[in-house]
Amino acid sequence: MIKAVRGTRDLLPPETALWNHVESVVRDVFRAYNFQEIRTPIFEETQLFARGVGEETDIVAKEMYTWEDRGRAASDHGQSLTLRPENTAGVVRAYIEHKLGDRGLNKLYYIGPQFRRERPQKGRYRQFYQIGAEVIGPATSGSESPARDAELLEMLATLLDRLGIQNWNLQLNSVGSSSDRVRFNDALREALEPVKDKMCGDCQRRAVTNPLRVLDCKVPEDQPTIETLPRVYDYLDEASKKHFEEVTTILESVGVPFEINHRLVRGLDYYTRTAFEFTHGALGAQNAILGGGRYDGLAELLGSPQPAPGIGFAIGEDRLVMALQEAAGDLQLKPDVYIAPLGAGMNREAAKLARELRRANIVAELGDETFRLKKSFETADKIGARFILIVGENEVKADTFALKNLKSGEQVSVPRAELGQRIHL
Ligand code: AMP
Repeated sequence: MIKAVRGTRDLLPPETALWNHVESVVRDVFRAYNFQEIRTPIFEETQLFARGVGEETDIVAKEMYTWEDRGRAASDHGQSLTLRPENTAGVVRAYIEHKLGDRGLNKLYYIGPQFRRERPQKGRYRQFYQIGAEVIGPATSGSESPARDAELLEMLATLLDRLGIQNWNLQLNSVGSSSDRVRFNDALREALEPVKDKMCGDCQRRAVTNPLRVLDCKVPEDQPTIETLPRVYDYLDEASKKHFEEVTTILESVGVPFEINHRLVRGLDYYTRTAFEFTHGALGAQNAILGGGRYDGLAELLGSPQPAPGIGFAIGEDRLVMALQEAAGDLQLKPDVYIAPLGAGMNREAAKLARELRRANIVAELGDETFRLKKSFETADKIGARFILIVGENEVKADTFALKNLKSGEQVSVPRAELGQRIHL
């Protein structure tokens, strides 16, 4: 038997109804903030992620699905392609390629699958879904302003509230400008030098290659050492400090609660200044529901002739749905009516009726004239139809049909013209 590949899964009804609900609420909220949808390809040139996400990151170093895409000729050297592990790089590429900034298209959102070769566990998949949004544009568009950071965070709080997610927690930090980061990395490297030998293997390596990542370490024995390391805030220049303070001031005035987490540096290399994460208690070990931050140098890194500062986030849709699952009750989508043709020649009559009712927005399931009445009743019951409608020769002649409410057991004879109204009740 062939099964779904490890780390991938089928999303089945009734759960898919919850996914659709989430996406429809999300689209409404994004619309209120004037975001528009973008859909980028599922695969891109490997280089885009190597440059955009960063060679040093776990994603690029070990988690990407990459292959050589050869043409038909034997001499074809092919091109290295990768299934997208995240969507920001693709959006920024599209922004540059289509000069979206010139058209004032500065606020974009996406919904779709991403791929990372991670160790699968609850809440962590190799194909997972992200819902994300990006504000990007020339500095003159205000994309650099702390007002955008605060607006995005306030939108996320609204979104989670609207979905009924309770007890979320917003963790906030500033990782400074790229030159702040260089100074901070140097300070970390120096502070790690005398202590790194007693830390875990990953930290020993990171202490040399990418000291910032040490702050991400989850190994319990390393935590006391990490607590003694310098804090990024002390290395921010005046402009970055002011930017961060303005973000927090706006959040306070609009009433969005947050916590400052000095160790929040996030997994991707391109972040500058504001970095954030929303966590949710009920999710266990994989408790990050979404993450994001500012990426002021990314567009230039990907070849934009002009600076295009930006900020964005990605929500883990799988985890968002998981957080909602307990609260959501019965999701099963059920038909209003099961139409049961009874006897030869009745399929065509039932088809006509079904067409009329469906045009009146009634959800109808259609049986088959070879079914006995008992089988029709059993089927209607199994799919949870509210009514069963019998279409037999006598009914057709009288143009009046037997309609039975399967919950109450009440059965009535209803003229054709009144069926819709009766079922809608
Ligand atoms: P990142 O792109 O790593 O910042 O991730 C943003 C969000 O995507 C995380 O907070 C998670 O909710 C979700 N996410 C990341 N990786 C996975 C995965 N392998 N499986 C499920 N969700 C994920």
